[in-house]
Amino acid sequence: VEIEDIQRLHVVARPFADETLNGLIGRHAMLNHWPRFGWIFQYSGYPLPQRRHLDTAIEKLSKLFGLPFGELAALQPGRPLADFQHRLCEYKGRLIPDGYYAKSVRRVCPLCLVDSSHHRDIWDYQFVRVCPVHSVRLLDHCTCGKKLDWVTHAFHRCKQISSDGKPICIDLRTVEAPKVPRGQYAGQTVILSLMGGAAETIPPLLQGLDVAMALNDMLVIGDYALRSELDGERRWRAFGVEQPELRYLDDGTGRGPEIALTVGYQVLQSSTDEFRDLLAVWRHRIGLSALASLGSLQVMQAHQRGVETLLSGEIARGIRLSKLSPVAESGGPGEG
Ligand SMILES: [Zn+2]
Ligand SMILES: [Zn+2]
Repeated sequence: VEIEDIQRLHVVARPFADETLNGLIGRHAMLNHWPRFGWIFQYSGYPLPQRRHLDTAIEKLSKLFGLPFGELAALQPGRPLADFQHRLCEYKGRLIPDGYYAKSVRRVCPLCLVDSSHHRDIWDYQFVRVCPVHSVRLLDHCTCGKKLDWVTHAFHRCKQISSDGKPICIDLRTVEAPKVPRGQYAGQTVILSLMGGAAETIPPLLQGLDVAMALNDMLVIGDYALRSELDGERRWRAFGVEQPELRYLDDGTGRGPEIALTVGYQVLQSSTDEFRDLLAVWRHRIGLSALASLGSLQVMQAHQRGVETLLSGEIARGIRLSKLSPVAESGGPGEG
């Protein structure tokens, strides 16, 4: 059967609750023994992966799968909410941060793939870098060095195939992914539990923040705390890291951003008084202008929401103090 001639798939499976639409399309390539996940391009004209498949593509898939449009549409994140400044969207009944999806890199937990050969939705969140079920680092590369992506024919394979379409590379389910201590990715755990509406105790400084704000604040504050001018080396070493690493969120699964998120969470677990003291120390060490991005983020958030959270209030207070009271800065290095 040529892909172009398909009216209806031979084998159709219902979506799993934790599956994505890209994942469902890929799984159907496997179920129907097609040589590539990209069959969808021949069928609908849309390549794989898509962050959000267009309605016209979902309509075609709905006919092909014999599944309701809504059931397929529910497998991908919704459009950003009207209050888009909050950077949230609805996905599977939860509010999640919009705009943090791994777009090109396919990330997998080899142990999850042993359990079930399907793509888990949380693997697409850039801030998820460790499998919460197995506590191992997600793979974003094959052992051959090739980046994992959607140019493949199976979730457990990289893109390398022989000229006659046979896999020539390792079965990713046999790759031993590095174990990660739970404490190292505590920040990721908190964000996932916030997304799930967990009743877990939220530290005062995180209260009132939606999940997108909490994620941003934890990352930004973690980023500050890991700067070498702010005693970052000590914090890195606590994670067994000798040289500071890149810590902006990307599609990969490196540990830098995960440590920043966790350090940010550690800082925000402190009491209000401890946080004031920390900000005062930072102000003296790096000066007001270097703290400005932290302050402007908070002020912007408070403005957008029309309410001041404890955290935004504390940061604004810390910044304002140094703006209004130059005396308070006397003796601090870099101030004048
Ligand atoms: Zn896993
Ligand atoms: Zn490979």
